[in-house]
Amino acid sequence: MDGFCFEGDFVVEAVELISPDKEKCVKCNACVDICPMRVIGVDEEGYPHAVGKAFLTCINCGYCVDVCAPGALKHKVRKRSANSAAALRAAVKRLNRSREYRKKRGEP
Ligand code: SF4
Ligand code: SF4
Repeated sequence: MDGFCFEGDFVVEAVELISPDKEKCVKCNACVDICPMRVIGVDEEGYPHAVGKAFLTCINCGYCVDVCAPGALKHKVRKRSANSAAALRAAVKRLNRSREYRKKRGEP
Protein backbone atom coordinates (compact mmCIF):
# COMPACT_ATOMS: atom_id res chain seq x y z
CA MET A 1 0.00 0.00 0.00
CA ASP A 2 2.28 2.68 -1.26
CA GLY A 3 1.90 6.16 0.19
CA PHE A 4 0.41 5.02 3.48
CA CYS A 5 1.94 4.48 6.88
CA PHE A 6 0.42 2.59 9.75
CA GLU A 7 0.78 4.05 13.19
CA GLY A 8 -1.22 2.16 15.80
CA ASP A 9 -4.84 2.42 14.78
CA PHE A 10 -4.17 5.36 12.52
CA VAL A 11 -3.53 5.25 8.83
CA VAL A 12 -1.78 8.33 7.63
CA GLU A 13 -1.47 9.24 4.03
CA ALA A 14 2.21 10.13 3.77
CA VAL A 15 1.67 12.32 0.74
CA GLU A 16 -0.18 14.76 2.97
CA LEU A 17 2.88 15.34 5.10
CA ILE A 18 4.60 17.55 2.60
CA SER A 19 2.39 19.18 0.07
CA PRO A 20 3.32 22.28 -1.86
CA ASP A 21 0.92 24.88 -3.11
CA LYS A 22 1.45 24.33 -6.82
CA GLU A 23 0.50 27.91 -7.59
CA LYS A 24 3.44 29.10 -5.50
CA CYS A 25 6.05 26.36 -5.84
CA VAL A 26 8.85 27.28 -8.22
CA LYS A 27 10.35 23.75 -8.16
CA CYS A 28 13.66 24.99 -6.78
CA ASN A 29 14.33 21.77 -4.82
CA ALA A 30 15.54 23.69 -1.78
CA CYS A 31 13.20 21.71 0.48
CA VAL A 32 14.45 18.45 -1.03
CA ASP A 33 18.07 19.41 -0.49
CA ILE A 34 17.70 20.65 3.05
CA CYS A 35 15.76 17.72 4.49
CA PRO A 36 18.18 15.97 6.86
CA MET A 37 16.12 12.79 6.80
CA ARG A 38 15.87 12.62 3.00
CA VAL A 39 12.13 12.10 3.05
CA ILE A 40 11.28 14.64 0.37
CA GLY A 41 11.42 13.55 -3.22
CA VAL A 42 10.28 15.04 -6.49
CA ASP A 43 7.25 13.81 -8.39
CA GLU A 44 6.99 13.42 -12.15
CA GLU A 45 5.93 17.04 -12.48
CA GLY A 46 8.87 18.31 -10.45
CA TYR A 47 6.96 19.10 -7.27
CA PRO A 48 8.19 17.93 -3.87
CA HIS A 49 6.37 15.13 -2.12
CA ALA A 50 6.91 12.78 0.80
CA VAL A 51 8.84 9.62 0.06
CA GLY A 52 9.48 6.42 1.94
CA LYS A 53 8.12 6.24 5.44
CA ALA A 54 8.14 9.99 5.73
CA PHE A 55 5.56 10.15 8.45
CA LEU A 56 7.68 7.93 10.68
CA THR A 57 11.05 9.31 9.67
CA CYS A 58 10.39 13.05 9.61
CA ILE A 59 11.87 14.68 12.70
CA ASN A 60 9.62 17.70 12.38
CA CYS A 61 12.54 20.10 12.20
CA GLY A 62 10.64 22.44 9.93
CA TYR A 63 13.69 23.25 7.78
CA CYS A 64 11.77 22.43 4.61
CA VAL A 65 9.09 24.93 5.51
CA ASP A 66 11.55 27.60 6.59
CA VAL A 67 13.66 27.35 3.44
CA CYS A 68 10.75 27.76 1.05
CA ALA A 69 11.05 31.37 -0.03
CA PRO A 70 7.69 31.57 -1.84
CA GLY A 71 5.94 30.07 1.19
CA ALA A 72 4.59 27.25 -0.94
CA LEU A 73 5.18 24.41 1.45
CA LYS A 74 2.60 23.18 3.83
CA HIS A 75 3.56 20.64 6.39
CA LYS A 76 1.05 18.59 8.28
CA VAL A 77 2.90 18.79 11.56
CA ARG A 78 4.84 21.99 11.32
CA LYS A 79 3.56 25.15 9.73
CA ARG A 80 5.86 27.80 8.40
CA SER A 81 7.66 29.00 11.50
CA ALA A 82 9.10 31.84 9.65
CA ASN A 83 7.37 34.53 7.78
CA SER A 84 10.42 36.37 8.94
CA ALA A 85 13.49 37.32 6.96
CA ALA A 86 15.77 36.07 9.74
CA ALA A 87 14.33 32.55 9.68
CA LEU A 88 14.64 32.42 5.91
CA ARG A 89 18.27 33.62 6.03
CA ALA A 90 19.09 30.95 8.61
CA ALA A 91 17.38 28.30 6.49
CA VAL A 92 19.33 29.34 3.38
CA LYS A 93 22.58 29.06 5.35
CA ARG A 94 21.62 25.55 6.40
CA LEU A 95 20.72 24.74 2.82
CA ASN A 96 24.09 25.91 1.53
CA ARG A 97 25.91 23.95 4.20
CA SER A 98 24.01 20.79 3.42
CA ARG A 99 24.60 21.22 -0.33
CA GLU A 100 28.36 21.71 0.26
CA TYR A 101 28.45 18.67 2.52
CA ARG A 102 26.75 16.51 -0.08
CA LYS A 103 29.00 17.80 -2.82
CA LYS A 104 32.07 16.91 -0.76
CA ARG A 105 30.73 13.42 -0.26
CA GLY A 106 29.90 13.11 -3.95
CA GLU A 107 26.20 12.73 -3.25
CA PRO A 108 23.56 14.08 -5.61
S1 SF4 B 1 11.37 25.00 -1.43
FE1 SF4 B 1 9.25 25.67 -1.87
S2 SF4 B 1 9.34 26.49 -3.97
FE2 SF4 B 1 11.17 25.22 -3.67
S3 SF4 B 1 10.56 23.14 -4.43
FE3 SF4 B 1 10.19 23.20 -2.19
S4 SF4 B 1 8.01 23.80 -2.04
FE4 SF4 B 1 8.67 24.33 -4.12
S1 SF4 C 1 10.30 18.78 8.80
FE1 SF4 C 1 12.53 18.34 8.59
S2 SF4 C 1 12.70 16.07 8.50
FE2 SF4 C 1 10.53 16.62 8.14
S3 SF4 C 1 10.32 16.71 5.92
FE3 SF4 C 1 10.79 18.82 6.61
S4 SF4 C 1 13.04 19.02 6.50
FE4 SF4 C 1 12.52 16.81 6.39
